[in-house]
Formats: sequence, C-alpha cells, structure tokens
Amino acid sequence: IPPERIRNFSIIAHIDHGKSTLADRLLELTGVISKTGKNKQVLDKLKVERERGITVKAQSVSMFYEYKGQQYLMNLIDTPGHVDFSYEVSRSLAACQGTILLVDAAQGIQAQTVANFYLAFGEGLSVIPMLNKVDLPTAEPERAAKQIESAFEIEADRILKISAKTGLGIEQVLPAVIEQTPPPPGSAEKPFKALLFDTWYDTYVGVVCLMAVKDGSICRGDRIVSSHSGTKYEVMEVGVMHPEQTPTTLLRVGQVGYIVCNMKSIAEAHVGDTFYRDRFPVEALPGFVPAKSMVFAGVFPIDAGEFDRLNESIQKLTLNDSSVSVHKETSAALGQGWRLGFLGTLHMDVFRQRLEEEYDTNILITSPTVPYQIKYRDGTSKFIRTPADFPDANTMNDYVESTMEPFVISTLIFPEKYLGSMLELCTTHRGELQNHTFIDESRVMLKCRLPMAEIVTDFFDKLKSKSQGFASFDYEEAGYDASDLVKMEVLLNGEAVDALAAVMHKSSVIVAGREIASRLKDVIRRQLFDIIIQTTANGKIVARETVKQLRKNVTAKCYGGDITRKMKLLNKQKEGKKRMKRIGKVDLPHEAFLTIVKRS
Ligand code: GDP
Ligand code: MG
Repeated sequence: IPPERIRNFSIIAHIDHGKSTLADRLLELTGVISKTGKNKQVLDKLKVERERGITVKAQSVSMFYEYKGQQYLMNLIDTPGHVDFSYEVSRSLAACQGTILLVDAAQGIQAQTVANFYLAFGEGLSVIPMLNKVDLPTAEPERAAKQIESAFEIEADRILKISAKTGLGIEQVLPAVIEQTPPPPGSAEKPFKALLFDTWYDTYVGVVCLMAVKDGSICRGDRIVSSHSGTKYEVMEVGVMHPEQTPTTLLRVGQVGYIVCNMKSIAEAHVGDTFYRDRFPVEALPGFVPAKSMVFAGVFPIDAGEFDRLNESIQKLTLNDSSVSVHKETSAALGQGWRLGFLGTLHMDVFRQRLEEEYDTNILITSPTVPYQIKYRDGTSKFIRTPADFPDANTMNDYVESTMEPFVISTLIFPEKYLGSMLELCTTHRGELQNHTFIDESRVMLKCRLPMAEIVTDFFDKLKSKSQGFASFDYEEAGYDASDLVKMEVLLNGEAVDALAAVMHKSSVIVAGREIASRLKDVIRRQLFDIIIQTTANGKIVARETVKQLRKNVTAKCYGGDITRKMKLLNKQKEGKKRMKRIGKVDLPHEAFLTIVKRS
C-alpha cells in the first residue's frame, strides 16, 4: 500500500469519554477482532489499566479499510490517557498526522480534552472532532458542540455525533479520518529515519520498539543507530500490530510498526528518539526529552528479610516502564530501600498498585515529594529528591544562596457555581490565578499557576470533593522558581526520624507542624512508655504531642470469658503489627509515613 493510502491517526479524549470503546468498535468494523458486542478494550492491556479504566502504556493497531474502492492502511496510534504522561502523549502524536478529538456529549469538554487538544494542535495535526455517547438520555450534543466551537474554534457543524457503545454513526468515523487526515509525508528514496514512540518488554522476544517510519524503509538484518545514544543495533524482526505482533518483510515510509533488535533493556529505548540506518546519519526529529521524574517516594520492605524479593519485583515492573527511575536508598529509620521517581502522582499510584497486587509485596511507601533545587553561594547547584537530604538550618545559613521548587500551570474546568470554592482551593495551595473564561453560559475554565508540591498529595481528592465530582483538572510543567523552603523534621522521643522529614514552604510551617504532630499522635498506638512527638523547622520546635503509655492489656475488657472474641482481638493486633515499622523503640504504623505532607 502506497503512502497516499496510509493514515496514521490517534484518538484523544478525557478519561472515560470512550476512547477504548471507540477503538474496539473500529477494530471490529475492520475485522481485526471478532464482533461479540462486548467491550474488549483491546488497547488496555494491563490489568491495572482495565481496572482503573485508564490507559497507561500506549498500544497501537494497524487495520485495513476499504473506502471508495481502495484499500487503506489505517494505523490507530494509542496515547496514554493521563496528564502524567503528557510527554509520551506528545511523542505518540508526533507519529500521526490526524487525531480524533472525542468528547462525551453528556459531560462536555473536560480539562484533559483541552490539554490534549493543545498537544495535538502544537504537533500540527488535523483535528477531527466527534461527540460520543449521544445515546445517553443526559447527552446534550448541541451544548457540547458549542463548547468545542468556543474553546477550539472548530465549526459545530463539522462535528460527528456517534455512540461507540451502540455503534451509531460508527461507519462515518474512518471515512472522516481518511478525508480529513493528510497521508504521511516522507520519501521512500531518502535514507531510513524513524521515530520511536513506544516500547515494552515482551517475554519471548525482549524489547519491542514501536516506530513511525518517516523516510526510507527497514527490514530484518539491517543495522540501525540511536541518535540519542549512538548505539548500533541489528534488526531481528519487523512487523505490524494486528492486533498482536505480526511479522512482515519490511517497514516502509509512512508505516507504523514494531522493530525488535538486540536491545538488552528497555532503558535503552528512549521515547522520542530518532533511529537511522548505520552509516547514513540523518538529522534527529525535534522534541526529544529524556523521561524525567517529577514525583519521588521512598519504598521499603516492611520486613527487611523481604528485600531481595521486593528488589526482584521492582526490577520486573521497571522492565516494562522505563519512566520509573530507581535509586537505592538507605534510611536510618527504615533500613534499605529505594527512592523511586515517577512522572506524576497517578503514575506513582499505578506503580504502587501493581507492586502490591501483581507481586503481593508488603511494602511501605513514604509520602510523595517533588525534586527541589538548591543553589549554593559558590555557584553550584544540586537537585534533592529525598527530604532527608534537604539542607538543615546551619547549612542553609552558611552555604545556601536560594532554594527552588517546580511549578505547574493547571487547567480546571467546572460548573460556575463552584468558582468560589475552586479559587479558594487554588489560593490555599499557594496558587496564583492567571485567568478564567467561560466555555459556555455556565462552565468555567480556570488557569492557575501552582507549586508542583501542592498537587502531589491530595489536591485532586479535594478538587473532587469541593466540586462534588464536577471539576476536572490537568496541568503542564512550568519550570523552577525560587521559593522560601524549609525542612521539617519529626522527633520521636528526641530522635529525628529521617523517613518522616518533609520540605515545605515557610508559610506552612506552623500549621503543618501542628498538624503533623497531632496526626502522628492519632496513628501511633500507645505503647509501654510515653512517646513524645515533636516537629521542628529550621531547628526550632514547632509543636509537641505526647502519646501516653499503655496501661491495660488489649484483652482485659473481655472479662476472660469469650474465647473467640479474645482470639479475634489478638489476631487483629497481629494484623496491625504486620504493617508496623519499629523506629528505635517505637512501633510506627504504615499510615504514619503517609500523613506527613497531607493537609486539611
Ligand atoms: P476511555 O477512558 O476514554 O478509554 O473510555 P472507555 O472506552 O473505557 O469508556 C468509559 C465508559 O463509557 C465505559 O463504561 C463505556 O462502556 C462507556 N461508553 C463508551 N462509549 C459510550 C457510548 O457511546 N455510550 C454510552 N452510553 N456509554 C459509552
Ligand atoms: Mg481507555
């Protein structure tokens, strides 16, 4: 099939607007999967993705479609469905020429619709607007169409109205894609050049790279080079996803397919990297940025004897997700563990869930933190990924010029009546309002600049509860800025617990210091001695609480009579112990490590 009859496209949508369902319908329509009427969600491969209904790893599929008597090769390139992965989204978009902007007709435009639209617009793609779920009784297609018109300057009458669930209007989707998406540019005569936009580890063949061939062609036995690292590889297999890996003799200009070469680990496959044929170097495609971690958390085995097993689990999981950064860390309080870096908090949650579920590991994860940057008076600077490494009061006075933290620009979309509470939410999180506009008579889009640290813990939960679930949220990174930061430490019976240290803005110290102390008081159980909890900032004590010593036996109130009740209580206590970590003489429950940077 010549490039004129290839279309590389993607579907962009807010979570739950029906991307996976639409993909399933298109695959059925083109016979790639059989029709069962069920939602197979072929694209959502990982269990956690199916459970959470979000796409974490992009997956792409090739299909054939006959239109006006001609065979077309339609490559549907999937994009991850969450803000944390915006770099991955932009690279997947760089592999296409067109994208379906899918909007739930009942919900209208949401924050990720806006973010995704601008990513696609920035990549120069043609945007094909569609309203989904028009079968719902609550659907308001006219209203949603108006929102699209006013937010993106797309004429309302160009918008297709479909139902991915019932199949209504599905037959118009691929013709619209063919008509409105240009064929891939590029030349068959030029030397091979391809964009790597997704990668995963396959147990049988090893590292698989998904690439969009921008020029030339490639086949088995060719030698290719990574622009980023300069490393040479031998191509062992090429093919297309149909929907599983299906080998072909070659991949040509305009095509999207997979390449298996002798890469040892997924860490060598950088999303956004350009590959060329050995001895025929080409100019690398623009936009390459190595994955960077924006959220860090410490991970420790509850039981030190589990270290090796946990190590193995972490390695297995990172085998398939090169965007997780892994550093060994030793904490005086928690022993040996790791500092893991994630693209964002959802990315972290997904990883945690997979670690706990797929590997059944009993782990302790510390509160998430962002990377801080310290500028020293001697002109050097350093990134800090563990609060324990943040300079203390003396070092601050003697050596530090300034402290910096990362910021984001966030987009919030919600019904007008929540404007007051949303503005309040932003200001209480040190936000700086940039502007707000109405996308229709009663929906507001608010832009606000916030420190990243403010959104990594419970910002999202608060947003949902303050708006009764009606607000949606997305963000993009906005660089580092100077900020008055302080290290807060927690002392238990006079001993600083490194794993409980936190970094925060000066203005939060008093409130947070008291809250942390009182929260810890609530979660630490009474023991055989008094436990004094103190929080300090800049070496000064901010708050103090005491957990009084335990006097009675847990079973004392059972009057010695009911034996099953007694067993139950004892078992409960044992259960509780499982997730405890002994710090000096004090048993700290798992929750203690999670409460640190949360604020009410
Ligand atoms: P994604 O997060 O964008 O991939 O969304 P999904 O495809 O997983 O769909 C989210 C939910 O909406 C699922 O429960 C689907 O069954 C449902 N859904 C998808 N399309 C339609 C539609 O056209 N009509 C209705 N009523 N429900 C739909
Ligand atoms: Mg999905």
